[in-house]
Amino acid sequence: MTFLNQKYERLIPYTPGEQPQNQSLIKLNTNESPFEPAPGVKKAVEAAAATLNRYCDTSTHVVIKPLAKQLSVQEDQLFLGNGSDEVLSYIFQGFTEKGIAFPDVTYGFYQIYCDMYQVEATVVPLKDDFTLELAAYDALEGAVIIANPNAPTGLLLSYQTICAFLDRHPNRLVIVDEAYIDFGGESMVPYIDQYPNLIVVGTFSKSRQLAGARLGYGAANSQLISDLNRLKYSVNPYNINSLTQAAGAAVLAEQEYVERCIEKTIAARKWSSAAMKQLGFEMTDSYCNFLFVRHPKVSGEALFLALREKNILVRWFNQPRTKDYLRISVGTQEQMEQLVKALQEILKEVQV
Ligand SMILES: *Cc1c(COP(=O)(O)O)cnc(C)c1O
Repeated sequence: MTFLNQKYERLIPYTPGEQPQNQSLIKLNTNESPFEPAPGVKKAVEAAAATLNRYCDTSTHVVIKPLAKQLSVQEDQLFLGNGSDEVLSYIFQGFTEKGIAFPDVTYGFYQIYCDMYQVEATVVPLKDDFTLELAAYDALEGAVIIANPNAPTGLLLSYQTICAFLDRHPNRLVIVDEAYIDFGGESMVPYIDQYPNLIVVGTFSKSRQLAGARLGYGAANSQLISDLNRLKYSVNPYNINSLTQAAGAAVLAEQEYVERCIEKTIAARKWSSAAMKQLGFEMTDSYCNFLFVRHPKVSGEALFLALREKNILVRWFNQPRTKDYLRISVGTQEQMEQLVKALQEILKEVQV
């Protein structure tokens, strides 16, 4: 017997990357930061723990205020979510009456939110080299969402290209998911004043060391933000708990720490991509904290399993266009050296 509403019977939920309890694994599968949270975070969370008998502040002002300053926007142009996933969820739920378009190879949640909220999805294939041609969205109607840089491909579109699309389509909502923007690209946040149909979504999970705290944001015209708040206050006004608010405020006060971590990740990305190319790997030009790689002589699945044997966890997406590839998060330099050593051994074992 099932009590699930019939419309959800065929819903296939997202499969999160594995979060093993075995700490000895080298975890390169979910694009978290390998670095611990900024030094001030622990103390701030401890202090906030003393107030847990009270409901949290629904205005989320302690985070919104410094975040607005950091992003150079007004406070009423920001909305916080329990992870950027929640921001995206509200967008799909609330702003997609005329459907939404996105690439075939991108963040898996976009399709799932469409299934969840019965939104008509138009899936536009990326080109053979995984690049995205925004002109392919010109003839469509409704909203467009792109991850920029895209996941799992790592490829970046210039903000000029996206601005040109916004100029051509002033009446279509454009959502730019910037989960990885700090690792290479130029953010579109400065353009939310110019384009009232633009929402930029960001997260504290990838470049700010707070994946477990669940904190993301949407930056947009104040009308869009007030509509997002209308949805939030109709579901859960307390979506950002006190501990997370404290952690978010603390990390925003330590931007130099965050930037040092980003620099280390970019350096490790550069080193490891060069080392893997030496081993014969092919890869996209990643602007993210992960690499999207394949080896012409060994299948993605075989590499995934062989790395797993050596206690290294990466992500393999068993989909037609991505099954030859691995998505490997960029860890610390030391972890990347261990990865390269393991790959070297694997290639020797299969005698490539
Ligand atoms: C990781 C990721 C998110 C979600 O991040 P949260 O942890 O929910 O903030 C959103 N979009 C893309 C493209 C991602 O890779």
